[in-house]
Amino acid sequence: MDEKKLKALREKYGNIGGDVVFNPTFKAVVDKLFKDDGSRTLPYGGIPTFMGLKHREDFTDLDIAVVGVPMDLGVTNRNGARFGPRAIRTMERIGPYNHALNIVPEAVCKIADVGDVPFRSRFKLEQCIEDIEVHFRRIIESDVRPLGIGGDHSISYPILKAIAAKHGPVAMVHIDAHCDTSGEYDGSKFHHGGPFRLAVLEGLIDPDRTIQIGIRGSAEFLWELSYEAGMTVIHAEEFAEMGVATVIEKARAVVGDGPVYVTFDVDGLDPAFAPGTGTPEVGGLTPREAQALLRGLAGLNVVGGDLVEVAPQYDATTNTVQVGAQMAFEILCLMALRFEIVGE
Ligand code: MN
Ligand code: MN
Repeated sequence: MDEKKLKALREKYGNIGGDVVFNPTFKAVVDKLFKDDGSRTLPYGGIPTFMGLKHREDFTDLDIAVVGVPMDLGVTNRNGARFGPRAIRTMERIGPYNHALNIVPEAVCKIADVGDVPFRSRFKLEQCIEDIEVHFRRIIESDVRPLGIGGDHSISYPILKAIAAKHGPVAMVHIDAHCDTSGEYDGSKFHHGGPFRLAVLEGLIDPDRTIQIGIRGSAEFLWELSYEAGMTVIHAEEFAEMGVATVIEKARAVVGDGPVYVTFDVDGLDPAFAPGTGTPEVGGLTPREAQALLRGLAGLNVVGGDLVEVAPQYDATTNTVQVGAQMAFEILCLMALRFEIVGE
């Protein structure tokens, strides 16, 4: 090594603590992680919140609120996604910096974990759907963008009701093994196989500006509304043929410039990576593909999003919780990036 270079490095880095960094973006990360005395918060201690964010009851002055929705009365088979929010909050090594998008969300806007939707009863699906809408309306009416952590996928319908009340029919990027556009059965239309049929029929999402990615499994015969309404459907095998860059290009072309909602069902990922979910389907996306896809949406006007269907009791390794929390973080970064770009 060049002697002069080595001397300069020794002078600059030889006698400083780990909390001293010179790159301003890295400094924003360090300032989040280190306390004034140079120590770091224990990642395994304290009361867990998503990403270690501050917990706040009052969301009125926030830019983005992370909201737990521990409700799984809409599942068609294996339950357990009600435990998703609590499990995801225990994950560490999520954020605060996204090197690919070069953003520390907490450094560009005000974000907090605002706890869970208050439910009046644990027994009534229809009533829970109302409770979710009421709570998300309050958040959105305060000009706060919500990131929901489910819960099963039935929660997206009431969230979209609240989103559309403010923004009108939105575009949507939907990652899932299932289109979730099926109809009523067993006396309910609110189950997790049907939120986007309701959203289309009620004018909450614009099907022409909606793309559904990762679709596969044995339920294709239930998704005819997606095709008839004009939603763009990318099956898992098509994803593999197209490659992630082409899928990103397609997604951006479909959703356009308007407000967009991003909904991520963890079963869109292959069960090799995300077994902890109620309706796993073989042949899905890898976490790296999904991450690249989400990062490829940078710059879109993401007005809200959700991460759903993490059911920790089928997740012996905690991989599903880890990858679910990471995908939620990627969506959070997209939402925060917009504040940096537009300066809202
Ligand atoms: Mn789903
Ligand atoms: Mn699914």
